[in-house]
Amino acid sequence: MEKLQAIRGMNDILPEQSLTWQYLESIFQKVVAGYGYQEIRFPVLEQTQLFKRSIGEVTDIVEKEMYTFDDRNGDSLSLRPEGTAVCVRAADQHGLLYNQQQRLWYHGPMFRHERPQKGRYRQFHQFGVEAFGMAGPDIDAEIIELSKELWRQLGLTDYLTLEINNIGSAADRKTYAAALSAFLETRKESLDEDAIRRMHTNPMRVLDSKNPTVQQVLAGAPQLSAYVGEESHEHYQKLTSLLDVLGIAYKENGRLVRGLDYYNNCVFEWTTDILGAQSAVCGGGRYDGLVEQLGGKPTVAAGFAIGEERIVLMLDELNKVPAQALRPIDIYVVVSTQNLSAQGLELATEIRKSHPSLGVLCHCGGGKPASQMKRAFASGAQLAIILEETDSASTQLKLRMLDDSNRSEIIDVDQIGSKLEEFIVISR
Ligand code: AMP
Repeated sequence: MEKLQAIRGMNDILPEQSLTWQYLESIFQKVVAGYGYQEIRFPVLEQTQLFKRSIGEVTDIVEKEMYTFDDRNGDSLSLRPEGTAVCVRAADQHGLLYNQQQRLWYHGPMFRHERPQKGRYRQFHQFGVEAFGMAGPDIDAEIIELSKELWRQLGLTDYLTLEINNIGSAADRKTYAAALSAFLETRKESLDEDAIRRMHTNPMRVLDSKNPTVQQVLAGAPQLSAYVGEESHEHYQKLTSLLDVLGIAYKENGRLVRGLDYYNNCVFEWTTDILGAQSAVCGGGRYDGLVEQLGGKPTVAAGFAIGEERIVLMLDELNKVPAQALRPIDIYVVVSTQNLSAQGLELATEIRKSHPSLGVLCHCGGGKPASQMKRAFASGAQLAIILEETDSASTQLKLRMLDDSNRSEIIDVDQIGSKLEEFIVISR
């Protein structure tokens, strides 16, 4: 029978690879906790309307990329393509927003029907933070600094560049969109079908066009920066001086508009050279109008989302995961004869109790000592403890390092407590 395969663009994360994911997520969680952010978990399925009203009807995500279906009641549902809109829905529904400040984080799978390639998948994972109720720019600077701290702890600082832009208020962008739309109307004959369709519904999306002819037309188009009002300018200037004080380097990129409609004022993206085409690893900014747009009381907000797959690719490519994080276990217990099974299990339990940070695997399922040793070497453990029967029918332990040193020593069972620390590093 033909074997079934995973859906294209949806990856299995196998045990060896998941060690890198665990390492990454442990650093994320440590850093956000250090900044006082609290975790929020929300469903992967939501009403389709939520995404239409937040991300925007005329965006790539909503027009082409959502996994949308009618459920058995005939309600239109979509797998979440991103976390911000859902976070707003959940936080508002449970009364976390009105007149309050919140610093939240989330992580989990997101779904977009994009063309899969390296760094771009149909199920991918985001780690994000959302801060509500703070008008900034101090909170904008905080979340940017937080992201930079993540890169520092992951050893990726040298490989990432921060790009920022001021996209103005919703009102500024409305005026700009009208001007852009009027300009595009005069160049209609040089535009492609997509651009013509978006010219009136969402002209700013035309700026993302990959078509060189459209890009040529755009070279002469009005610039968003000319339409950004005084208030946004002031906000942006304060933000850049905060970044200067914090020693955070940035590149200003006037073309950075981001693919979601809800952003305003400051937007940013961290990019890298080492991943090829999919260079953005983190994107965010302010979205002061979104809570109200989704039916809540006006609540200012800012946040970002990181693409976890892309960070994993970077960590792998640059060999940045510490060896100890990639070690699934520390000790492999070899049971020379079946008579010693109970003692093997007991010994493993004792070690786990006295050294909770250690991973101890006790061989199960029998087999010759030599084949158990093969598994011990393949396991990635640092040390094998081999239970052996002596001539006088008592039990002795042979400690054997599994590295090139071949160091080994035979000890009595009750010596294990003191000997263990001579052999391996016990801190994780
Ligand atoms: P966005 O929600 O589009 O602002 O994306 C935020 C981050 O999520 C991006 O910078 C990417 O790192 C990551 N990302 C977005 N789409 C994908 C995808 N299809 N596959 C993998 N990562 C993605």
